[in-house]
Amino acid sequence: MNSISNKLENLRKKLPEHVTLVAVSKTKPISAIQEAYDAGQRIFGENRVQEMCDKHEALPKDIEWHMIGHLQSNKVKYMASFVSLVHGVDSLKLLHEINQQAAKHNRVIDCLLQFHIASESTKFGLSESEAQALLKSSDYAQMQNIRMRGVMGMATFTEDDDLILQELGSLKSINDRLKAEFFKDEDSFDIISMGMSGDYGLAIQQGSNMIRLGSSIFGKR
Ligand SMILES: *Cc1c(COP(=O)(O)O)cnc(C)c1O
Repeated sequence: MNSISNKLENLRKKLPEHVTLVAVSKTKPISAIQEAYDAGQRIFGENRVQEMCDKHEALPKDIEWHMIGHLQSNKVKYMASFVSLVHGVDSLKLLHEINQQAAKHNRVIDCLLQFHIASESTKFGLSESEAQALLKSSDYAQMQNIRMRGVMGMATFTEDDDLILQELGSLKSINDRLKAEFFKDEDSFDIISMGMSGDYGLAIQQGSNMIRLGSSIFGKR
């Protein structure tokens, strides 16, 4: 029995059906991803563009690659032909570049707005008012090659469950308000990406439907 497939199988048994599992494979070798693939996993998350491109080259083409990390505009072009979901959109400038690069490939790239919900200042992301300004902008209104699918965020790395619950709950509330204000008639604004190995149980409790798990599948990095 190999451990990656065991861990995936155990996770699948306990995850509610509405929760999508992104296997975060950053820093892990091709062989580990192939093992997860062979166990049925098709969605993988990476946080560096070059590493994701190399892995995309080397691995089966029915894998959905999610960019989960902080993204620089000048790197978007390398992944625009294949990336399936960009979790970390935190500026209009970045979204503009994703739209332009997607157009070059005749694609529509799915995106999530990343919010800064943690009390830690090290984490990236928009405030709610910044997101509202982005969604109200005429530049955004003209983008034909991106589709806004929902929100993403990371809670503080802490043992304090109450703080984590509060932060993850705030992301769910932001999602609900944005949906009501900007995406009322669009069923496609439907992804709440929150929850990592340490807090995915709490995240699901707070309304997450997409969790990003690295170490609990592949072991320590
Ligand atoms: C690394 C990473 C994860 C996975 O973290 P684990 O604690 O290993 O599950 C999830 N989301 C983002 C944005 C990451 O960078």
